[in-house]
Amino acid sequence: MRITVLAGGIGGARFLRGLSALLDREYPGSEITVIGNTGDDIWVHGLRVCPDLDTVMYTLGSGISEERGWGREGETFTVKDELASYGVEPSWFGLGDKDIATHLVRTQSLASGYTLTQVTGALCEHWQPGVRLLPMSDDRAETHVIVDDPSGATAPDGTPLRTAIHFQEWWIRYRASLPAHGFALVGIDTAKPGPDVIDAIMSADLVLFPPSNPVVSIGTILQVPGIADAVRTTPAPVVGVSPIVGGAPVRGMADACLTAIGIQTSAAAVAAHYGARASGGLIDAWLVDSTDAAEVPAIEALGIRCLAVPAMMTDIAATADIAAACLAIAGPVPASQ
Ligand code: GDP
Ligand code: CA
Repeated sequence: MRITVLAGGIGGARFLRGLSALLDREYPGSEITVIGNTGDDIWVHGLRVCPDLDTVMYTLGSGISEERGWGREGETFTVKDELASYGVEPSWFGLGDKDIATHLVRTQSLASGYTLTQVTGALCEHWQPGVRLLPMSDDRAETHVIVDDPSGATAPDGTPLRTAIHFQEWWIRYRASLPAHGFALVGIDTAKPGPDVIDAIMSADLVLFPPSNPVVSIGTILQVPGIADAVRTTPAPVVGVSPIVGGAPVRGMADACLTAIGIQTSAAAVAAHYGARASGGLIDAWLVDSTDAAEVPAIEALGIRCLAVPAMMTDIAATADIAAACLAIAGPVPASQ
């Protein structure tokens, strides 16, 4: 079976760990292709950092800090502290010493002319995540957030001036507490999907949206020209898992992202935002947590098959069960092996 997953960072990576365990057990020989979000990517102190790709790579390669959910286990922050003592910014970005080695390899390889897809492939040779990890694009397309100028600057008539800050600054430095007026994906219009990305969607037996952020993870991937059309038209069923449980994100500040684009923070509202493939949308089926069982009829009324299951990824076994529910609701998937 060939499964293609559009993934952000922590939510995507944790889901992939359960999916991998399920396939190893029940469908040996299956292949997982991950289309990773690179909208979070940022230059920090001259290093190219790809937070979501690295979270997937470290999580599946058993190098992640389980406690933080990002970065390396047993990490130290000596370089970060030294940089702070020089007073250089950004001081708010969590650059760990071990992590820096990954960014050095990536930055040097990019400078030598390799594409991000090639560099990610080379890093994965080391990490052996057990999936094919493809950046959504080799082109730079970075998420910026439109906010009122944090300095408090106003126009002569007293209205706050708006400015765009990098997503990482909004997310980490301000913990998404500055109300967002919207997102600007700088470079997205001319970004091309990575070399095998469209084929991975079109030739899959099943396409999955893990419980990743629908706006700044999956939403970003879908804005790369051509990717949403591929999801709409692939012969494979498309199944998603809600990242919203009981009207709130399980972790992180996805509610602030949804509010910024005028979507309610509920499992049903996210399903409606993706829309039914039967009417030109992106998903055939949607899993919600058992606590949101009351939302199932409203989601089914949209033309999206829906089931309430325990959707908390508490451990690998529970996550494998969520993945199994995805396969079940997808219906008979033409197994390529
Ligand atoms: P990020 O890039 O690191 O922010 O990670 P993702 O975009 O891949 O995933 C973030 C989303 O995962 C958040 O909106 C969370 O609500 C969701 N999430 C985290 N843990 C769980 C869980 O156990 N169950 C479900 N259903 N969603 C989760
Ligand atoms: Ca992310």
